[in-house]
Amino acid sequence: MRGITWYVFVPLFIMLSVSDVEAIILNLVQPLDKQQHTEVVDLLAASGRILASPITSQLDFPHWDNSAMDGYAVRYEDVQDCSAENPAVLEIVEEIPAGHQPESTIQKGQAARIMTGAVIPAGADTVVMQEVTHREENHILIFAASKPQEFIRPRASYYQAGTQLLPQGIILNAPEISVLAAAQCRLVPVLRKPIVAILSTGNELVTPDQPLQPGQIVDSNQYALAVLVRQSGAEPLTLGIVKDEPVALEQALAHAIANADLVLSSGGVSVGDYDYIEQVIESLGGKIHIRAVAIRPGKPLTVATFPSPQSPLYFGLPGNPVSAFVTFWRFVQPVIKKLSGLAEGWEPKFVKARSRDELQADGKRETYLWGQMFLNREGVYEFQLAGGSHNSGNLINLARTNSLAVLPVGQTLIPAGENVLVIHNS
Ligand code: AMP
Ligand code: MG
Repeated sequence: MRGITWYVFVPLFIMLSVSDVEAIILNLVQPLDKQQHTEVVDLLAASGRILASPITSQLDFPHWDNSAMDGYAVRYEDVQDCSAENPAVLEIVEEIPAGHQPESTIQKGQAARIMTGAVIPAGADTVVMQEVTHREENHILIFAASKPQEFIRPRASYYQAGTQLLPQGIILNAPEISVLAAAQCRLVPVLRKPIVAILSTGNELVTPDQPLQPGQIVDSNQYALAVLVRQSGAEPLTLGIVKDEPVALEQALAHAIANADLVLSSGGVSVGDYDYIEQVIESLGGKIHIRAVAIRPGKPLTVATFPSPQSPLYFGLPGNPVSAFVTFWRFVQPVIKKLSGLAEGWEPKFVKARSRDELQADGKRETYLWGQMFLNREGVYEFQLAGGSHNSGNLINLARTNSLAVLPVGQTLIPAGENVLVIHNS
């Protein structure tokens, strides 16, 4: 009796809003702990990884006072009043290329020839750029007055030794890798990538290399999810197809839980006769946090946690390929980013775009329509709905999708030419 009541009524009134679900699941995620999950990699291998600890350098940047110009290092007092009519005339006592330690101290009436990046000699406090000078043998004529300290990049003016150079939890891209290289940090502490197990459930599923029998379809979700997982910065653990049988599902799920930081399955989360996922989660001691979301496509979404030591989060995604894709983008990707140890910026980024097409929704659930974004000549984003039938089973028109337009609950129409909020993954 209890079972019947539960199945008939619960899914109807526990359908949570998209933003509630987002908050609940982000709250359930514990980022990988840096004490246990740091690995040290070579500088180049750190590209795209997440920094596990803050970095501090013992070097000042710049390392010494140096010249921002090719020109002459001088004493300000010698050049403060000069002009085209009344040039300063200084004796050149040294040539300082980049990479050399100056030998002389610049005295009154003296200058040193200096190149960009070279160390400022003692006594000098200003650099005069070459373009306002004229050289005559070992003398230099200067035709324009300088400002004090002009064209000098003072030591430690960019960064002071001993302070924090990079914070933990950032992604290391080219700018950060160059900072680490300059700081002579050749071995970098990064967080290991989370392992995300992927299971496909369904008696109708076959691998792409198998000839199709009547009623069968290819398990495309396994591939789609593996790529999405990798693009989100994690390592997919593809566990293949599992039959819609409680024992097989339980074994597969138990294996996934034991070997991954996050578990994704697709299919079997609806209320169909062969949808056993929920029953299997319960027999493994899992706690179900979410059963349905007011999202279209993607309503039947299950989220659970398990009591095992590492207690991975489990997502039962809908089987329909488009629903699996949309729910991954909207809910799983932020979870992977937080799990990875990224300090911030987990949630999808919404941008405003002008819709090229009329967009329709039923107004009852937050609706995601897939398509492409373009930046027009005025620098304005335009959204174009994917052609063909917009139903969650049509994965063919998903090709070239890089964006999801969002119609909130209550909105049934956005006319062509009007603005819409779009999640954009370029
Ligand atoms: P289900 O959620 O199991 O009821 O599946 C919903 C629909 O998605 C059915 O038409 C399935 O055949 C299809 N489907 C389920 N799993 C996959 C998969 N791994 N790859 C492609 N389609 C799938
Ligand atoms: Mg199924």
